[in-house]
Amino acid sequence: MLTNDELAKWDRESFFHPSTHLGQFARGEAAQRIVTGGEGVFITDRDGNRLLDGFAGLYCVNVGYGRPEIAQAIADQAKELAYYHAYAGHGSEANITLAKMVMDRAPDHMARVYFGLGGSDANETNIKLVWYYNNILGRPEKKKIISRWRGYHGSGLMTGSLTGLELFHKKFDLPLAQVIHTDAPYYYHRPDLAMSEADFVAHCVARLEDLIATEGADTIAAFIGEPVLGTGGIVPPPEGYWPAIQKVLDRHEILLIADEVVTGFGRLGSMFGSDHYGMKPDLITSAKGLTSAYAPLSASIVGQRMWDVLMQGTDEYGVLGHGWTYSAHPIGAAAGIANLKLIDDLGLVQNAAEVGAHLLAGMREAVGGHAHVGEVRGEGMLCAVELVADRDRRRFFEASETMGAKVVAAMLKRGVIARAMPQGDIIGLAPPLCLSREEADQIVTVTRDAIVEVL
Ligand code: PLP
Repeated sequence: MLTNDELAKWDRESFFHPSTHLGQFARGEAAQRIVTGGEGVFITDRDGNRLLDGFAGLYCVNVGYGRPEIAQAIADQAKELAYYHAYAGHGSEANITLAKMVMDRAPDHMARVYFGLGGSDANETNIKLVWYYNNILGRPEKKKIISRWRGYHGSGLMTGSLTGLELFHKKFDLPLAQVIHTDAPYYYHRPDLAMSEADFVAHCVARLEDLIATEGADTIAAFIGEPVLGTGGIVPPPEGYWPAIQKVLDRHEILLIADEVVTGFGRLGSMFGSDHYGMKPDLITSAKGLTSAYAPLSASIVGQRMWDVLMQGTDEYGVLGHGWTYSAHPIGAAAGIANLKLIDDLGLVQNAAEVGAHLLAGMREAVGGHAHVGEVRGEGMLCAVELVADRDRRRFFEASETMGAKVVAAMLKRGVIARAMPQGDIIGLAPPLCLSREEADQIVTVTRDAIVEVL
């Protein structure tokens, strides 16, 4: 077996890691962690640490680590049929069964599910379907996509453009021209502190209406949004936001894509965020929670009104030319079936609601009054603590102070993994949905102690 030092050297010399400071990593100046195992909400590493994973990997290991049911399902599927493609009507028992299970859980007006590999490709699929839809309907000009600043929709060419975070555009020549951004529904960052939540929703709606008027509704195909902003800061929408946005979109015949890569399959304490907030999307994007990341798989779930047009399109123009070699991969599907069964059997959607509420309440109690905590917010099993330089005047820290990263590092020293969200000083928590109350309490204590140490 390789020593830790040998493995770390190969890592620095060979491995191009995603979303990493390449120079610092290659020079050995950045953190390296070689993860060896996981059990429940804990992971272990080669340095002998056992860490409570308060971010479920990248908010994806929803059922927790080390589930033998899923491992067995993957092994059985690999032995029986590791792969056959899904083109031209081919299927396997696993992917057909999973399609049925997804549709049984999806909102009522959804019609079919298309399987890919991850959240980015599922969003690419959804944008292509939106364009195809408008071409079939004879509206070739109606193609622009509105997304929100601080939204995260992936890091491909189109999805990186939809993402409204500078980090993902910088030096990549993004965003592409077809993408336009509108305001994030981020009440804590409202432009005027005197605004009520209702005023702020009206403000977001007015800004959207202005954008549509400037661009022309006949050039705008769709609006994409996460029910709760995730990577942009874990920000639940202000009361009434989604119904108000939906009204505007309906009036201008703009489709709604709900990006539920984080929220799908239980994270908000509801099966889908669309149900949670009364959204009526034409397309739902999901991935992470579909398999709890035991295997890569995504789902683009298509609503009935779009499905009818897609069928009309293939009747007129022939085969819909869009597919990945690994679409509906049987091993991913087997993992998905076992995962969704576990979510049901263990009551994890309910647990996300209950323990998530306990975590949020505990966090508010423990750090909500701290002089450098601006806001503690959350929904279901999502929680964020936003740090500020001056709480009364809502003055933010300078980016160079990296206060969020410092607190997250102090939490890690105490055995809890949180995520410093990429923009602002926001400590993000998105634990596995199987978190217990005691584990939630541990996260709260560690967050408090780390904040007290750093600030
Ligand atoms: N959409 C949302 C809301 C996400 O949070 C993510 C990833 O975090 C993606 C899309 C992209 O998914 P992936 O990284 O699997 O491509």
